[in-house]
Amino acid sequence: MTTNNRIMMTPEQRALVDAVRQLARDKDFRGNSIKYLDGTYPWENLNELAKIGVLGMSIPEQYGGSDLPVFDTALVIEEVAKNCYATAMALMGMLGVQVRVISNFAPEDIKRDILPKVASGEVHLAVCMTEPHAGTDVPNYKTNTVIKGDRAVVNGVKTLISRANEAEWFVVFTRIDGTPGREGIGCVLVNRHSPGFEVTARYHTMGGEYLAEIQFNNVEVPVENVILRQGGFKKLLSAFNTQRCLNPSVSLGMAEAAFEEAIAYVRERRIRGHAVSEFQGIQWKLAEMYRDIEAGRALLYRACLTANPFPDPHEAAIAKMFVNEMAIRVSSEALQVHGGYGFCDDYPISRIYRGVRYGTLGGGATEALKDLVGKKLVEDFDPLEGFLGMGTF
Ligand SMILES: Cc1cc2nc3c(=O)[nH]c(=O)nc-3n(C[C@H](O)[C@H](O)[C@H](O)COP(=O)(O)OP(=O)(O)OC[C@H]3O[C@@H](n4cnc5c(N)ncnc54)[C@H](O)[C@@H]3O)c2cc1C
Repeated sequence: MTTNNRIMMTPEQRALVDAVRQLARDKDFRGNSIKYLDGTYPWENLNELAKIGVLGMSIPEQYGGSDLPVFDTALVIEEVAKNCYATAMALMGMLGVQVRVISNFAPEDIKRDILPKVASGEVHLAVCMTEPHAGTDVPNYKTNTVIKGDRAVVNGVKTLISRANEAEWFVVFTRIDGTPGREGIGCVLVNRHSPGFEVTARYHTMGGEYLAEIQFNNVEVPVENVILRQGGFKKLLSAFNTQRCLNPSVSLGMAEAAFEEAIAYVRERRIRGHAVSEFQGIQWKLAEMYRDIEAGRALLYRACLTANPFPDPHEAAIAKMFVNEMAIRVSSEALQVHGGYGFCDDYPISRIYRGVRYGTLGGGATEALKDLVGKKLVEDFDPLEGFLGMGTF
């Protein structure tokens, strides 16, 4: 059986994915992924990816990047996620919403200063949205930025933030001048060395990485760092739709890795003189896993292809809902066919199973996305037009 996952790619995209695949093999990303379970940041892998231009993929050419579409970045993240969850998550942080907000909406001087350093891997970025009392409840964000002449002052607390110890710049979602509701939310760029910026708690996750709470106590920044003001929330949200494609790319890559590990194991392991792969019960599991991976791939690639420059929110939400849950199911079944060894840290499947659980939580939680899609269907679905306009076939 041939795999059809390349039919939607251009020759350039295939070459890009092949280069990443080769690098991951040469540097043994999968074998080394155990190193990152204790929260170590995968600097080595990211520096290698920077050398082949991957960290600049979301950055316009004039700032040292290659300005590739969301689909290309998703393909690369999928390939990396097949080998190392920690590296894929960090890479998503370099190619996702934060860099797109800067590339698309920041003033020229900021772009010229920061983006080339992001492309070379010298500077890492983080995004601060979640607050202790409000994750999905965006309209209740409390962090506030007051603009005073040529300065702006940020106050608030963000939590569950990735790369808090490694990032140089933080794209902070914040209310502007206390304006209430979603429309009052914009974003400001804060450097980690600003007085009043403090990492106040760290949480070790089941995926391996650390997440952190960050306090902003009267953090003063130049007014140019206020990238989006009141009324800018729609722009933020459209950039955030990128995350709804990149997050499931991590899930898809991990589901593929889980499948690869499962099939290798059952071909090798013997019970009562038979390879485990000979049992019908196991073959059915493999068939279902493969089917679900390919269904998820089709949905996700289609969502990525809607990007102009950001993906369609509903297509991305539908793909994300499906792929995240599919990957959890597939990796659970892949662990099951390993028997007890699948539960041991030394086996890659145990790490895949832990990391893949992240998918439904971040980048738009599944339940919130179901709300979004359900509401759209109730409002707009037209039986005469069928599925056109709500999933364009
Ligand atoms: C590994 C990891 C990395 C992360 N990195 C970052 C980061 O870098 N920056 C950042 O800002 N945040 C980050 N987060 C936080 C993440 O974005 C939030 O956890 C997420 O937005 C959910 O918010 P919450 O945890 O406050 O859950 P809540 O919003 O409190 O949700 C609790 C539960 O209610 C459900 N729910 C929400 N709305 C509805 C509804 N309408 N109907 C039914 N159920 C609903 C949710 O799906 C969830 O199951 C990260 C999280 C993880 C796990």
